[in-house]
Amino acid sequence: MKKSIKDLTNIEGKRALVRVDMNTPLDENKNVSDDTRIRAILPTVKELQKKGAKIILVAHLGRPKGEKNPEFSLAPVAKRLAELLGGEIMFLNDCIGEEVENKLKDLKNSQVALLENIRYYKEEEKNDEEFAKKLAKLADFYVNDAFGAAHRAHASTEGVAKYLKPAVSGLLMEKELSALGGLLSNPVRPFVAIVGGSKVSTKIGVLDNLLDKVDTLIVGGGMTYTFVKSQGYSVGKSIVEDDKLDVAKDLMKKAQEKNVNLVVAQDVVVADDFSENANTKVVDAKAIPEGWEGVDAGVKARADFAKAIEGAKTILWNGPVGVFEIDKFSEGTKAVAKAVMEATKNGAKSVLGGGDTVAAVEKFALPKENFSHISTGGGASLEFIEGKVLPGVAALDEA
Ligand code: AMP
Repeated sequence: MKKSIKDLTNIEGKRALVRVDMNTPLDENKNVSDDTRIRAILPTVKELQKKGAKIILVAHLGRPKGEKNPEFSLAPVAKRLAELLGGEIMFLNDCIGEEVENKLKDLKNSQVALLENIRYYKEEEKNDEEFAKKLAKLADFYVNDAFGAAHRAHASTEGVAKYLKPAVSGLLMEKELSALGGLLSNPVRPFVAIVGGSKVSTKIGVLDNLLDKVDTLIVGGGMTYTFVKSQGYSVGKSIVEDDKLDVAKDLMKKAQEKNVNLVVAQDVVVADDFSENANTKVVDAKAIPEGWEGVDAGVKARADFAKAIEGAKTILWNGPVGVFEIDKFSEGTKAVAKAVMEATKNGAKSVLGGGDTVAAVEKFALPKENFSHISTGGGASLEFIEGKVLPGVAALDEA
């Protein structure tokens, strides 16, 4: 367990350097078009306000590659954050240095300041020691609430925690760690994981680690075809990783050894084109015709997936089981989403991770309250499930 801001007392008047993930999309007028991530950090800001701390937020936006490029200014985020907090915030045009230090002297208890994009400095991603020290100088203690950036060892996520103590987690970080950690350490059984997405190569670690933990593992999406081909069947034009056939075979073998019910689609939707205008048909996964491409779970597969999910008490869902971005190919992913929602209603704990999974839930306009936890971290949640140490978490003090 990591120490959290809830454990801190007597921080009235103390300066908190708070790393947050407010990497939000902007529209053509440079307004925030989706403020989910900004809303997600409000509990931490409000908790610190309640305790009377002076709040200095550190964030990044996009990839300015170490240059002060106004394209990537956090000004629009500052504007939206101020609206959400219902008051003004202090927005600084830099993130380190004397001018910043001087301006921060005016910060009052419970007031919020936001530093300009930390990635304006190449030292950030290099986890430069001197840069981390300059950041540390701005405050009296450190809070990391940026779960979405915790898999990166950067100056503001990892380095600074060495020089600024206490270094504690924010409420969002705490919630993410408890939701994901609970899955891996102590899941109520049966534990069913659904892993989709385009490629086996990016999910090997996840699949491998999950085979040690779950009762049922549903492997869907583009990965299906590498599994099918590894069994000696042809897959037409479907996405396939020929250099991962052995990996697929090994994973199937491990599932057998571990007594895990590994579910791969028995039938699939194939298309003659990767578009909304494609002709489609449902075929046996072992009999994909030449020239056709697998794009979604078939009718039987959807029923199999739903049945496996139905009895679950713990569910992890990461990655769509078809090309959900195209309506015609989205039925499989929709079926999974509905089954997960239904199981959650019946008492299962469901955790969703990964940008595409969240995008699918949003596309289908499903209320997010119907799932127990939707992770804000794509890459970070994957690495966590792989069992990797997240540097931004490891750097925090133990409770
Ligand atoms: P990933 O980034 O690996 O998690 O993959 C997510 C993407 O996988 C989504 O954009 C889906 O459209 C895509 N995907 C799912 N099923 C397939 C498929 N059968 N063929 C190609 N792409 C797929």
